[in-house]
Amino acid sequence: MSRRNNLVHQALQLIVNTGDHGVLQSELWRKLKACSREGSRIALKLENKGFIRRERELFSGRWTYRLYPKRRPTSVNSIIDCPCLMCPETSRCGAWSAVRPSICERLTEWILNIAQMEMPPSGDG
Ligand code: SF4
Repeated sequence: MSRRNNLVHQALQLIVNTGDHGVLQSELWRKLKACSREGSRIALKLENKGFIRRERELFSGRWTYRLYPKRRPTSVNSIIDCPCLMCPETSRCGAWSAVRPSICERLTEWILNIAQMEMPPSGDG
């Protein structure tokens, strides 16, 4: 792997690990021992590929960017309460069976609850 590709890979890994907090561009380049010009090119490349988003931020009186991952690794916690994990019908359930996820009320309810929790609050009332 070339030095640049290696840096891109390391940068993405570091950004993903920051999660919702994100990381200041300058902080990231310090960790990677890259110059700011090289770092900016990498950030643009990652943004253009849809891996990260950049948000302008005023830090110590200067405008810079904070970098956030767009995709996060899936955690086991995200499915810990999925009804399928404790379902007595698991052995009979399948895409082409009489008992199937596409018509399962428990699974549908679980998915709808997640969707509802992730919806932004409405501006009404
Ligand atoms: S989809 Fe429904 S029936 Fe199938 S395993 Fe999950 S909870 Fe059980």
